[in-house]
Amino acid sequence: MRKKIIAGNWKMNFSVNEAENFVTEILGSINTNEVDVVICPNFTALDRISNLLEGTNIKLGSQNVYYENKGAFTGEISPSMLYSIGVEYCIVGHSERRQIFNETDEMVNLKAKKLLEIGIKPIICVGETLEQRNEKRMFDVVEDQVKNSLKDISKEDMKNVVIAYEPIWAIGTGVTATSEEAEDMCKFIRNVVKGIYSEDISNNLKVQYGGSVNAKNANEILNMPNIDGALVGGASLKNEFTAIVNY
Ligand code: PEP
Repeated sequence: MRKKIIAGNWKMNFSVNEAENFVTEILGSINTNEVDVVICPNFTALDRISNLLEGTNIKLGSQNVYYENKGAFTGEISPSMLYSIGVEYCIVGHSERRQIFNETDEMVNLKAKKLLEIGIKPIICVGETLEQRNEKRMFDVVEDQVKNSLKDISKEDMKNVVIAYEPIWAIGTGVTATSEEAEDMCKFIRNVVKGIYSEDISNNLKVQYGGSVNAKNANEILNMPNIDGALVGGASLKNEFTAIVNY
């Protein structure tokens, strides 16, 4: 039985004080017995939120990282820096990073490998555009993203990889994939991973769905057999997040 994992991607929102206030507000209502919960604040809030989460079962996640541990990379943050403040998960390859900052599968792969090396679990995002779905190319697109992002990641390291299926047309749009569409793609991703690694690794892999998940649709989505959790954007900035976690 795979334990569900629900992550809140705050994106570029909340000042440090706002972040602390929000976490303080929701802390008591989040039950982590049934579900692993990850909160991904912006870089400036990570350290203070890390302190706030100490002694709780809520995990800290980053929204991005660079793929070297130190050096002349102005403006970047390294896996070792994140690790030193208690970050346990890191989103890589979010579609906003791919589309706005031109991140490629190769960069996503380098980031994932460097995170695994240091002991942080990557949440690797994949997903097709609306155009690709309309052209019925979504399975090919996602298969390529999965294969390229996982290149040279060992079987052992796969225990610490999470994949998030996030159709780009569903992110921040209020349009959710139907639970069947989400289930079909998450099942497909599991099969791709089975082809690369083994049945055992694919059975243990956690595949999240992300794209306009909210308190109303969470239950149906999270009850699909191949969906092991959610990556939540907009709704993770509100009290609604607790309802999603306690779905
Ligand atoms: C996301 O940013 O990963 C996301 C899924 O956003 P939203 O829930 O707002 O669609």
